Amino acid sequence: MDLTDAYGRKIEYLRISLTDKCNLRCSYCMPSEGVKRLSHTDVLTLEEILRVSRVMTDMGVCRIRLTGGEPLVRKGIETLVQSLGELDKKPELALTTNGVLLADKLEAFYGAGLRSVNISLDTLNRETYASLTGTDALTEVLSAIEQALSMGFKVKLNAVSIQGVNDKELPALAAFARDRAIDVRFIELMPIGCGARHKGIPQDVVMDMLEDKFGKADKAPDAEAPIAGLRGPAEYVSFKDFKGNVGFISPMSHSFCESCNRVRLTVDGMLKLCLYYPDGLDVKKLIREGASDKELAEAIREGILKKPEKHCFSETNDSEEKRSMYEIGG
Ligand code: SAM
Ligand code: SF4
Repeated sequence: MDLTDAYGRKIEYLRISLTDKCNLRCSYCMPSEGVKRLSHTDVLTLEEILRVSRVMTDMGVCRIRLTGGEPLVRKGIETLVQSLGELDKKPELALTTNGVLLADKLEAFYGAGLRSVNISLDTLNRETYASLTGTDALTEVLSAIEQALSMGFKVKLNAVSIQGVNDKELPALAAFARDRAIDVRFIELMPIGCGARHKGIPQDVVMDMLEDKFGKADKAPDAEAPIAGLRGPAEYVSFKDFKGNVGFISPMSHSFCESCNRVRLTVDGMLKLCLYYPDGLDVKKLIREGASDKELAEAIREGILKKPEKHCFSETNDSEEKRSMYEIGG
């Protein structure tokens, strides 16, 4: 019984949000005013997360990414990674983190079989970093990146391009891929939650900036299939003399809904089918009401049939999902 939605898309990729807490406060993701927190009982336990992961990997999910909020502030993440690595179907494991707490955990993650780390970093300028995130932690992030690379992790940098915030710094971020075997991906800002308070920069504008600085780019077709043969939504290019590639994830200007193979498990236990819409399947309720694995699998299979055909971010410049990314799992 595999997982295919009503549009024939095979669901192979599960993004799991471990927490709605974060040690940073990026202005496009988390409001500076009071943040509502979920109560302890509303949050899926690690055992519940593991169970959903087991059921879904048995149904064909082969890639699991841990995210949040900031996943590294969730107690027990090392044990969870270990247990996910021991699942029968051996999913490819990956992590998205702001990198601040990463250095101390790399060894445990490597030992548990995790090999792929995406680090979100929107600027290399210490002042911009502190003003964007509310914390002076750029040095810790940069040192975690070097450590992860030296240990053999596949490292990607994710930078959201935002007008008036980091627009002048995008070439410097891309240059990270010139000097290291690292892919740097520019993500278009989505008008979700606090994201709607800022203005993003379209892929083509970023590309022009980079070509002005580094010369004409070539297409780099095979960059996104390093481990399990799965393609992600990024389009990659390579610049002359760069060790890594530069990628673009552009939900606003180059939507990739047609090939979307992912669903999200939110921190409060909803299987969320599309970023744009708030709807989903209440997996936590099913589990806590005593559903068997078979019942859970059947409900997930039926829930996936409701995955929307596409988002409408660019048409509406808004989102039906009113929560921010830290709450739903970016
Ligand atoms: N705290 C971790 C981190 O920052 O990598 C994981 C969670 S964070 C919500 C995941 C990703 O979502 C980050 O790369 C962040 O830049 C991105 N993000 C947050 N809000 C966004 C928005 N409105 N549009 C596009 N990306 C966004
Ligand atoms: Fe935290 Fe990540 Fe959101 Fe920044 S983008 S506030 S690091 S969850």
